[in-house]
Amino acid sequence: MALTERELERYNRQIKLPNFGVEAQKKLKAAKILVAGVGGLGTAAALYLTAAGVGKLVLVDKETIELSNLNRQILYTTEDLGKPKAKVAADRLRSLNPEISIEAIIVEISEENAPDIIKGCNVVIDGQDNYRTRYALNDACITHRIPFVHASVHAYEGRLMTILPGKGPCYRCIVPVPPPEAGGFPILGTVPGTISTLQATEAIKIVLGIGKLYVGRMLIYEALEMMFYEIKVERNPECPSCRLL
Ligand SMILES: [Zn+2]
Repeated sequence: MALTERELERYNRQIKLPNFGVEAQKKLKAAKILVAGVGGLGTAAALYLTAAGVGKLVLVDKETIELSNLNRQILYTTEDLGKPKAKVAADRLRSLNPEISIEAIIVEISEENAPDIIKGCNVVIDGQDNYRTRYALNDACITHRIPFVHASVHAYEGRLMTILPGKGPCYRCIVPVPPPEAGGFPILGTVPGTISTLQATEAIKIVLGIGKLYVGRMLIYEALEMMFYEIKVERNPECPSCRLL
């Protein structure tokens, strides 16, 4: 997959990186990444993946843009209220980088459709805000052996863990039973911004096969204390999702 002169110039500052070069940029161009949910996490992750030149991005979200989204969902403006998130996000990202392909899917992710939605993807970014769809994505990624970069945020705290099927714990190993959840929870907008940027970084490393991934570790970011903690996490041999891998 060759790069044009314009692409070489657009990505010049990352192509210069050690462990990167033109070959890495070609790998990004050949990659397909699913951003599952374009809310606080997904908008910022998609922005960086678009800027980095991931060749194909798939954005999935069934929701429309509300005023209370705008403290953190940075692809949207006040004029976008009421419009579908996936479509507005795709349009905005195309204006940032017309060299890549962006597909918008307006649907709710479920156990039934998750395998089809993730098909052919190199990485899945977890931008979900509920446990049901997160479990559905986790399970589909385990079955189809697709890396899944999990993140969650609440109030001043963010969490991140990369799931490589069969090579570390999956989401169900760590959270076997869904905790109680409530919509409209409090959230400082910069927290998903911070965590989603780390998700995009993990996705790029996965595609390129460089660096050390956040597997078998849960990152906890406490914004008020400005602290990053690492908790070692292990596979559950009884995990209903990944025990057979
Ligand atoms: Zn598991």
